[in-house]
Amino acid sequence: MKKVSVIIPCYNEAQSIPLLYEELCRLAQSESMYEWEFLFVNDGSQDTTMEVLAGLRKLDKRCNYVDLSRNYGKEVALLAGFDFVTGDCAAIMDADLQHPPRIVHEMLRKWEEGYDDVYARRVTRGKESFLRKRLSLIYYKLLSKSTRLDVLPNVGDFRLLDRCCLDALRQMREQSRYTKGMYCYVGFKKTHVDFETQDRVAGQSSMSYRTLIRLAIEGLTAYTTSPLRWAAGIGVIVSLVSFLYAIWFLIKTIVWGEPVVGFPTLMITMLFLGGVQLLSLGIIGEYLGQVFNETKNRPVYFVRTFNDEKYE
Ligand code: UDP
Ligand code: MG
Repeated sequence: MKKVSVIIPCYNEAQSIPLLYEELCRLAQSESMYEWEFLFVNDGSQDTTMEVLAGLRKLDKRCNYVDLSRNYGKEVALLAGFDFVTGDCAAIMDADLQHPPRIVHEMLRKWEEGYDDVYARRVTRGKESFLRKRLSLIYYKLLSKSTRLDVLPNVGDFRLLDRCCLDALRQMREQSRYTKGMYCYVGFKKTHVDFETQDRVAGQSSMSYRTLIRLAIEGLTAYTTSPLRWAAGIGVIVSLVSFLYAIWFLIKTIVWGEPVVGFPTLMITMLFLGGVQLLSLGIIGEYLGQVFNETKNRPVYFVRTFNDEKYE
């Protein structure tokens, strides 16, 4: 019998988990030709998520949970999921029921057809501000223009991965993780199913603009060095323009002479050049920071318990 796992990263989801569990049971019941595993990764929640998970485990041995030693963020929680998951394939979904479990039926059919990575494509994005939607579209345009990876907009972590993808993803141990890019990086046979994002059942989103911007920068710097090239490009253009300007200035002074005016020009040029230099330095710094973090080569996360047992 083939085994299907579901990986669920949970951060302060005590209220949503029981509702999600009900849905998962319904799913497992109607797909009873598979053996099921529900792997919850508790990402250092501060509420009663752990108690809820331990309670579920007592009732139902299909539920496994990994308790991380602190809050590492969703991307790292997913890596823990990839490490501990035992199924022949694994569906990844959010704990807040924004990813409706019933879509997994369709995903499983595609998996049986031989696809390794069945991702769910949002046809609507649920309750999100206009600004957030626009920004995310612009971001994906930028990302796919500057990398050779085709990171799709409206595709998130909701997907079903075959064992081959899971094993590949486990081998990527970097600290700053942009999992969306990794799915593309590992390749394998992909296809999609459509779904409509639901609203959160309980609690609130923990992804602030700050986290999202951080993730966006990590996504860019981890998959492409083109910002460095943009900085160099701007440098070339600016030097060219200033060279032409210098020539013109020289001629002007020789032909017409130069009474001391031009303070504004001086100021503007200085500020502009200063700005460009700082920006370029910032971009280089961003990459250097990534290098610094990765060279430490620390374990990406630590586990406190697995199914209530101390984990070494
Ligand atoms: N999550 C997590 N660690 C975090 C933040 C979020 O494991 O530090 C989980 C969260 O429990 C949920 C999923 O990641 O299952 C998506 O989070 P959220 O709903 O807050 O983000 P959004 O849907 O708004 O992008
Ligand atoms: Mg959510």
